[in-house]
Amino acid sequence: MTLLKKTLALIAFAGAPALAQEAEPQVLITNVHIFDGVNEQRIENASVLIEGNLIKAISTEAIEAPDAEMIDGGGGTLTPGFVETHAHLLLMGPSLSAMEANTTWEDFAIHGTRMAEMYLMQGFTTVRDAGGANGGLRRAIESGQIVGPRYYPSGAFIGTRGGHADFANFTAPPGSETNFGRLNMAQEVSGVDDVYRYGRNNLRMGATQLKFMQSGGVVSAFDPWQLLAGSREEIEAAVQVANEYGTYVMAHSYRKEAIMNALDAGVMSIEHGFSFDCEIAEKMNEVGAFISTNLTAFDPGLLDIPAVKNQASSLAKAKSASATFAEYVPNMQQCPVKRAFQTDCVGTVEACNIQIAYEKKLNNDFFGAYQSLVTMTSIGGELVALSGDFTNPFTEGKLGVIEEGAYADILIIDGNPLEDFSLVGTGEQWFGAEPRPESPETIRLIMKDGVVYKNTLQ
Ligand SMILES: [Zn+2]
Repeated sequence: MTLLKKTLALIAFAGAPALAQEAEPQVLITNVHIFDGVNEQRIENASVLIEGNLIKAISTEAIEAPDAEMIDGGGGTLTPGFVETHAHLLLMGPSLSAMEANTTWEDFAIHGTRMAEMYLMQGFTTVRDAGGANGGLRRAIESGQIVGPRYYPSGAFIGTRGGHADFANFTAPPGSETNFGRLNMAQEVSGVDDVYRYGRNNLRMGATQLKFMQSGGVVSAFDPWQLLAGSREEIEAAVQVANEYGTYVMAHSYRKEAIMNALDAGVMSIEHGFSFDCEIAEKMNEVGAFISTNLTAFDPGLLDIPAVKNQASSLAKAKSASATFAEYVPNMQQCPVKRAFQTDCVGTVEACNIQIAYEKKLNNDFFGAYQSLVTMTSIGGELVALSGDFTNPFTEGKLGVIEEGAYADILIIDGNPLEDFSLVGTGEQWFGAEPRPESPETIRLIMKDGVVYKNTLQ
């Protein structure tokens, strides 16, 4: 991988030797067709001027920039960098109990470092983490020590006893110390005071939003997926704490009652939301909430995940959930809402690489190329920006769009992904798939924050 470092051009004025003025370096990308993240029609035969870390100009006329580094886009499609809105970069599996029992902070840190680089090289310039990571990984990325996307962690999962974020051993008494609790990766709450305490601690430790576990899950040990976890007061407490920091709550919600409770309490991001229907859509559109969908959850391959397959209770839950959620995608097609992209992979880097590629493919299968690209770019950018003016670490420009003033988070893709979605790096198979390349060959350029991380255009 080539990492072209930013260089600062110094312009010294004659007669004023003490005053050296720093000019931001410029990059001029020519010969591209632009998908701007919003409009289905590409801007044909265009050029994009980047200055520093922001997009300075977009034009179908020649742009004058004599000092700019030149990149010929080779007639490819220039798109915003992709946005993943629900990952767990630190969690490597294979099961919650194994991670609780056997994993040290070193394992988590090394896994997170590799996952961060993998995500960026798959074209994701922004990743929102849905639980288990604090501010350290972002610090390492932003200081240039490791390579990774813009990163929005949620701190510890906030969950109730026996819920989807309960990693404790079966025999552990309530409130006993856990590996995940010590590392602030998952915290058990009982009552609003605990929500205040751990919510504020998450934000203190670098979370950009809070994650509340409001339903059960499939791979967790003690909960039916139908669980209604957390009282209305506890969810409202999480929203209150988030609002103190100008940010929002994302809630892991399956059941309709859970989703409606969350929306009534002020939750802005519904995770999974598998009982989604048109009444929920109406409410979501009224309050401006988003849904983040992992479509792999509807794949028959789900039953082949080791964490599901090897545990009878998980297998039974997965079967029951798949049957119950059959109307999820049809309802979403009928009653559209702001839908963001997520993979929700917990596993090895290689397995997550395959799952991301497959999740991309399912988006296209269910929603078509244009809707999938909007979901993977501008909607994700809008969603992460809900973290607000003073908690959002990235407020200089917009994310997920190609427009003047937006962050220079840019991909150049061979051909036209609006016509052939596989060009974004899809995978045809989930389990049993061949290992995938470090980066899809058809993604020729990856730029984040004005810095080029991959360029095979020459
Ligand atoms: Zn998750």
